[in-house]
Amino acid sequence: MSARKSVVIVGSGVSALAAAWELTGAANGPVDTTVRVEVIEGADRVGGAVQRTTFAGREIDCGADGFLARRPEAVQLVRELGLDGQLEAISASGAWIFIRRRLRAVPAGVALGVPTSAASLKATKGLSPRARAHAWRDEHFPRSMQVASDATIGEIVRTKLGNEIAYQLVEPMIGGIQAGRIDDLSAASVFPALLQAARGGGSLMKALRAQGSVVPGPSGPRSEGPVFYTLRFGVGSLCEQLEVALRARGVIFTTSTPVTALRRSKTGFYRWEVDTANATTAANAVLVCTPPTVTAQLLGALEPALGALGDIASASAAMVTLCVKRTQVKLPPTGTGVLVPLGTPFKESDSLMVTAVTFLDRKWPHLANDETVLLRAHVGRSDDERFMALSDDELTRRVVSELALIFSTFPEPLESLVVRWPHSLPQYRVGHGDVVTAARKAAARLGVTLAGMAYDGVGIPASIGSGRTAARGVQEILDAL
Ligand SMILES: Cc1cc2nc3c(=O)[nH]c(=O)nc-3n(C[C@H](O)[C@H](O)[C@H](O)COP(=O)(O)OP(=O)(O)OC[C@H]3O[C@@H](n4cnc5c(N)ncnc54)[C@H](O)[C@@H]3O)c2cc1C
Repeated sequence: MSARKSVVIVGSGVSALAAAWELTGAANGPVDTTVRVEVIEGADRVGGAVQRTTFAGREIDCGADGFLARRPEAVQLVRELGLDGQLEAISASGAWIFIRRRLRAVPAGVALGVPTSAASLKATKGLSPRARAHAWRDEHFPRSMQVASDATIGEIVRTKLGNEIAYQLVEPMIGGIQAGRIDDLSAASVFPALLQAARGGGSLMKALRAQGSVVPGPSGPRSEGPVFYTLRFGVGSLCEQLEVALRARGVIFTTSTPVTALRRSKTGFYRWEVDTANATTAANAVLVCTPPTVTAQLLGALEPALGALGDIASASAAMVTLCVKRTQVKLPPTGTGVLVPLGTPFKESDSLMVTAVTFLDRKWPHLANDETVLLRAHVGRSDDERFMALSDDELTRRVVSELALIFSTFPEPLESLVVRWPHSLPQYRVGHGDVVTAARKAAARLGVTLAGMAYDGVGIPASIGSGRTAARGVQEILDAL
């Protein structure tokens, strides 16, 4: 009788858990031939950037708090786990932007912050006549632009629609999702629809309008219906439920145990050795789902193209969640939150650290409560780590005083929570696709597989898709042994 094949998955973010689900038979598993899977995680709990906690008597997410419904991967996994009854659609729409010291409505019909008609800008007060003229010109006499296989998002939007629209509207939205700068981010990797629209040569806005609803990341199947979902007990519950289901399938979880080295073994049944401080685990295949710098440390000595993953910069961010008395806070009547353009002045020579504010309990009905309001302020960008120098108390005080500027007044919070995400949002800069392609080729030569948010898009659906696709690659390696 042949020995049961085994796989070690390094990391336990949602990409790793989705991979384990796929490897153990997905909706139909486990079966007799299911491989032995061990997940080794450095932190003391599974889930990576998908975590929840109790705050102000409610279950809130510490990181990701919702996922795009129009990409199928997350919804499909939720359904396979039998959690469809917990899906909760976003219950607010529209957003505000803090321009020239006032809250202005984000124009209707924007594609990731890029306006899709000059007329839609009429309602957005605070933009200069020059910005509106740029938009009008794009519709009637579009600027020509030579676009090669890639360009930064900033390059495209600045050329076609001018600096003001680029930095006051587009950067707060796209930069906010990626915690990066539009002048660094690759259109090919982050916003391929924009690249395609620019390459068409005509009006950028008309081309985006013709493409219909736009979602980040590579093209793929889309569905209609709500734009975002969460789960009634928080997105963090998805990873917890996955862990429970995977344990029931015999998947072994080892937490608080960083993997320190990966080695090819020269002989025998097992091809890999996985080192931690306490043990060496042998495996037929290894799936590495760690942040790119860690993956580079683990595999860079074996293949230079894998070492190059260490050059992918990752932005740090923090989320400051506040619970305030409903009667004491004055927020705009509608919307999911507020976007803040970079460099917005704060006091004499300073600028706001807050990049966005999310009205948590408006977005997700299960968090709503008659007495109090839950808001979340986001701070940190690829080039703004000022928050790192502040203690949690200092950061909370700073955020509260910034919110007092944004909302004209803001009360002392009843409760607050700071969650920090250091070096956790990979920046897809121009050339990112080439780095990933080279790394994947090198990984294939070694017989190791990679998954996670550094490769196939940032976001829960993209990460789930990345994990599941990688798991199918691992299965092929195992089948060939
Ligand atoms: C602050 C923040 C907010 C976000 N908000 C949203 C959102 O609202 N909606 C959305 O769709 N997406 C959001 N995202 C993105 C989404 O959370 C990610 O795309 C997804 O969770 C990434 O999963 P992953 O498995 O690729 O990586 P991660 O979740 O980063 O997992 C990597 C894991 O590897 C572990 N690890 C590291 N080193 C080692 C080692 N040496 N040995 C073993 N394990 C190791 C880490 O501890 C971690 O658990 C957000 C991300 C962040 C950071």
